[in-house]
Amino acid sequence: MRQIPRLFVAEELTGGRRLALPPAATHQLATVLRLEPGGELRLFDDRTGEWAARITAVGRRAVEVEVGAWLRPREAPPDLWLCAAPLRPERFAWLAEKATELGVARIVPVLTARTQFHRQNLERLRARMVEAAEQCGRTALPELAAPVPLAELLAGWPERRALLFADEEGGAPLRSVLAPPPAALLVGPEGGFAAAERALLLAHPAVRRVSLGPRLLRAETAAVAGVALWQATSGDGS
Ligand code: SAH
Repeated sequence: MRQIPRLFVAEELTGGRRLALPPAATHQLATVLRLEPGGELRLFDDRTGEWAARITAVGRRAVEVEVGAWLRPREAPPDLWLCAAPLRPERFAWLAEKATELGVARIVPVLTARTQFHRQNLERLRARMVEAAEQCGRTALPELAAPVPLAELLAGWPERRALLFADEEGGAPLRSVLAPPPAALLVGPEGGFAAAERALLLAHPAVRRVSLGPRLLRAETAAVAGVALWQATSGDGS
């Protein structure tokens, strides 16, 4: 039985509402999935939760749907932030997709001394996160923060939130650092953290230095491994 397509819509959903889906969704539904009037959908709006919907008309430029029954509430994902130095755009987009699938609540691009790719196309990143949320069944999108320099991030760090500093140079095994939500994982860029950044981090009261094992992981591997480990010990992946 083919899975009923799930789509994110930006406007707030209510039962009985009729709406025209945007061009990208129209293409996906009409051209790719060849859905006809009467075809079933699931819609979510990152606010009210997930709704059943039915296609009422398929035009060349827009697909019209009618919202039906409310199915389930917007999820409350475990309160984990992924703070990651931006990477080569395709790798960073891949990381944003994986972090979405793994249930992070917020992604914070952190500008560090050795960050090579300061400019990120946030629209493209967000589109990748929306697609991931549609595919993996999330009803809440992760927030995507604006890029922030590391020192500024630390200066305004919320004191109740533990910051797990994934340090390629060592630290306690993540499984032994219990950091219940609200928590955050920090991963550096391809070139790692500079000595001054490490000193700044280790002096910060919210920071816990964690190791992700004896091997040197690519940044995106470290982020995925770190989020998955945290979910297994402190989140909803257990
Ligand atoms: N500076 C390294 C590469 C850094 S890897 C080099 O010599 O090339 C990129 C980031 O992944 C690191 O900053 C760290 O946040 C994370 N990372 C990689 N391996 C890790 C490990 N074994 N433990 C903890 N974090 C790790």
